[in-house]
Amino acid sequence: MKNILIRYGELTLKGNNRNAFISKLIQNIKFKLKEYKEFIEYKKDHNSLVLEIKDESKLDNISNILQNIFGIYSLSIVEIVEKNEDVILAKTLEIAMNHSGTFKVEVERKDKGFSMGSQELKTKVAVNILKNNNNIKVNVHKPDLKLTIIIKHNGAFIFTSRINASKGLPVGVSGRGLSLLSGGIDSPVASYLTLKRGMVVDFLHFMTLPHTTPEALDKVFKLAGKIEKFNHSSFSLYVCDFSMILKELMHIKEESYRITIMRRIFIRIANEWAKIIGVQALITGESLGQVASQTIESINVINEVSQLPILRPVLTHDKEEIIEISKKIDTYETSILPFDDVCSMYVPKNPVTKPKSFVATKQEENLLLDEMIDYTIKNYIKTYIWKDGELIEKQ
Ligand code: ATP
Ligand code: MG
Repeated sequence: MKNILIRYGELTLKGNNRNAFISKLIQNIKFKLKEYKEFIEYKKDHNSLVLEIKDESKLDNISNILQNIFGIYSLSIVEIVEKNEDVILAKTLEIAMNHSGTFKVEVERKDKGFSMGSQELKTKVAVNILKNNNNIKVNVHKPDLKLTIIIKHNGAFIFTSRINASKGLPVGVSGRGLSLLSGGIDSPVASYLTLKRGMVVDFLHFMTLPHTTPEALDKVFKLAGKIEKFNHSSFSLYVCDFSMILKELMHIKEESYRITIMRRIFIRIANEWAKIIGVQALITGESLGQVASQTIESINVINEVSQLPILRPVLTHDKEEIIEISKKIDTYETSILPFDDVCSMYVPKNPVTKPKSFVATKQEENLLLDEMIDYTIKNYIKTYIWKDGELIEKQ
């Protein structure tokens, strides 16, 4: 029977929180693998977790899902055999007989009670292979086949590769945040990076029908769906119809401040909504200096209206680096679909690059902001909950 050995990542460093982190990770793994439940037996160990896979044909699918779960450092498909010299020699030979070229044997002796030293076992395994397979020779520096044997208290673990997984922390150990999700490239990447540090991510999207099209909204649903595999078992997408406010904003005298003020209203609404749904932080895809509205001055003027911390995981990333991640997580092709979101429709010719707080405040005084925000929150936010592979509107 094949087994998957799961190595915990940063978890091993986390002192007292360790048990809570491991339970969360196992809970997340069980959820993501729920459709394979009947084929998996879970075996917890001190530094790792072993999944016994009862149907080998499911192995690849299970391994692919595991690679996207944060908190897992790496995986190996392992054979677990009895800690007996003859059994180990037979199994390692069976594996090596399918290979030609070069090989190397590594032995880790975790169970110090095992009768044979690691050097001695290593030599015996290598000699046995060389005696029986004429197509293979030793190369300790760059072997084609690396055969690792770990002697643990519960058996000899034998494997030939380590598959890199997503690393990070198990989603759910760092609270919950609300990600301002546009249809662009940056905010899905920012959401992904936040999930990587263990924070559950809900989404808030501002749309302005009929200025923006239903396709633009569809894109946002698709993006939230693409990130689903990294997210918690349950999360929501909130869609706020911003049309009424946008209409008011057209009357702002200082046209160059439109974007700044719109951003501040996004953040005000997000703060109020966060109180209702109970999240601890906001997340945006802003990157320092990327566009005129993302200067440090602009960020300061936006932060002023927020009580919650605003996390900006891609703040220090170059656009190219962000694109690279978006390709890796498969959001890129959706993000570049050409549908306008609120901002691109509404951008003034010369947006202010160094906005001043007092100017923004003064412009806002002419708007009935509190009332508009209150009305929008009560009437214009729809909730979609992730259920059975889809975002379903909450009635
Ligand atoms: P993105 O690629 O994420 O759209 P961007 O480089 O286009 O980012 P902006 O359009 O200036 O940057 O937006 C900056 C951030 O503000 C976005 O990353 C996102 O977090 C938030 N944002 C912008 N538009 C919307 C929207 N319509 N709904 C929700 N959040 C938005
Ligand atoms: Mg954008």
